[in-house]
Amino acid sequence: MRTLVWFRGKDLRVADHAPLTEAAAGGELICVFVLDPFFFASDRAAELPHRMQFLLSSLASLEKNLAHAGSKLLIVPGRSVEVIPALAEQLRVDRVFAHRWVEPFGRERDRRVAQALRVPFVLYEGETLAAPGSIRTGAQQAFSVFSPFARAFAKVAQIGAPIAAPKRLPPPPADALATATVAVPTCAQLGLPDNPRVQSGGERQARERLDAFMAAAGRRYHDARDRMDVAGTSRLSADLKFGTLSVRTVWARAQATLTGDALRVFCNELIWREFAHHTLFDRPELLTRTFRADFAGFPYRHDAEGWSAWTQGRTGYPVVDASARQLLGCGFVHNRARMISASFLTKHLLIDFRLGEAHYLKWLTDGDWAQNVAGWQWSAGCGCDAQPYFRVFNPRLQGERFDPEGDYVRAWVPELAKMPAKYIHCPAEAPPDVLRSAGVVLGESYPRPIVAHEAARARFLAAAKAHLGRP
Ligand SMILES: Cc1cc2nc3c(=O)[nH]c(=O)nc-3n(C[C@H](O)[C@H](O)[C@H](O)COP(=O)(O)OP(=O)(O)OC[C@H]3O[C@@H](n4cnc5c(N)ncnc54)[C@H](O)[C@@H]3O)c2cc1C
Repeated sequence: MRTLVWFRGKDLRVADHAPLTEAAAGGELICVFVLDPFFFASDRAAELPHRMQFLLSSLASLEKNLAHAGSKLLIVPGRSVEVIPALAEQLRVDRVFAHRWVEPFGRERDRRVAQALRVPFVLYEGETLAAPGSIRTGAQQAFSVFSPFARAFAKVAQIGAPIAAPKRLPPPPADALATATVAVPTCAQLGLPDNPRVQSGGERQARERLDAFMAAAGRRYHDARDRMDVAGTSRLSADLKFGTLSVRTVWARAQATLTGDALRVFCNELIWREFAHHTLFDRPELLTRTFRADFAGFPYRHDAEGWSAWTQGRTGYPVVDASARQLLGCGFVHNRARMISASFLTKHLLIDFRLGEAHYLKWLTDGDWAQNVAGWQWSAGCGCDAQPYFRVFNPRLQGERFDPEGDYVRAWVPELAKMPAKYIHCPAEAPPDVLRSAGVVLGESYPRPIVAHEAARARFLAAAKAHLGRP
């Protein structure tokens, strides 16, 4: 039996890789990654610079890990809907194995590949803990609220133990070695800068992050996860996105290592991840439409200046600015900062959440269609189980609560580095002598707030009430 295992960007690992393990047990194994211009053409890669950087390092690491076990990753350029059927034919494989994708375009691609193949195309679960579509209400509907989804998940989901990484794999057949392949491209070859502040991809790095988290921060996760100034979260989101770790591995490790609230709260976040993926599976239209139909045509404003200030980190709200600069600087934003920042864009500035969503998807290393759309619609108040639209974060109070010493702001907004904690989240309210000794000149070295909090809040609420027709 000869099997082609198609790796495709969400499963860049050898451990807990069911298609790889089963293919290897069945006889001859051919491992393939397709460099599809849909993602890898230079102009496309430029639309996801940090993700591409992480992906390329993960791909290089996968190539090494497969070679180490005796196999070889064939990297083949071309459109996957053409390359995979052609390779299957040329190499006379008996079957093609891969992991399932949730997104509508991935499902459409797989439908076309399956149609073009003359051999079975077997899709495995693996991106999520439970198969999308398997968690249902009593009426067999998709859930639209998180808590009942989480309760049903706890009852129904059967999460197996992760499969160990294979020690030995069958060597690639001689005719497969004759396939025209290319090397893993570098960032430079795709015209991208290599940003040293972006996490390195790869299975080993992912395991090191997992080990480090479980040994230390994970144990205080419930206390520290909301603190933007503390490394209190796992930083595994890009690993989960690209599959350098399986979510099942993270889940199993949490179950074995954490206890009490830390375990409960951390697993709850993994279930939020499930909820996002299951929701997009059932409602692919959420990539272009709001979950709440009454938000259609919401009167967002065109505000080029506000947009530029928000993206560049020049709004005059230090936490919002820190998050904008963290995003561009290293491709990551703390979850609390994502929420504050998304709320500020959509509510304080009344700018369409879709613009923020696209900006995040471009710059986040963990940028993920399902989770990003869920996060943005949640923040804008128009999504599945969203926060009520009338809740508007106060960036100053959020900063004082979740960055009490101001260290998160200091790390990303250096012109405020010398501000005392008392004023770092509201420099516009600092007395002149405090500003002077911190070297801050408002309107010059750091902007004044581009909108006043109370007025912006009132403007949003008036617009929302008028549009949604509620008191
Ligand atoms: C506006 C907005 C946009 C977002 N966009 C993305 C995105 O593109 N990709 C992405 O992975 N996450 C996104 N999130 C969710 C969350 O911010 C990140 O998953 C988290 O900050 C990643 O950091 P971590 O790995 O240290 O998380 P931890 O706190 O260590 O959590 C562990 C894992 O659980 C999952 N998780 C945690 N919080 C959430 C959540 N609120 N919703 C869904 N899953 C969660 C992630 O996979 C994360 O890696 C977004 C949230 C918001 C508010």
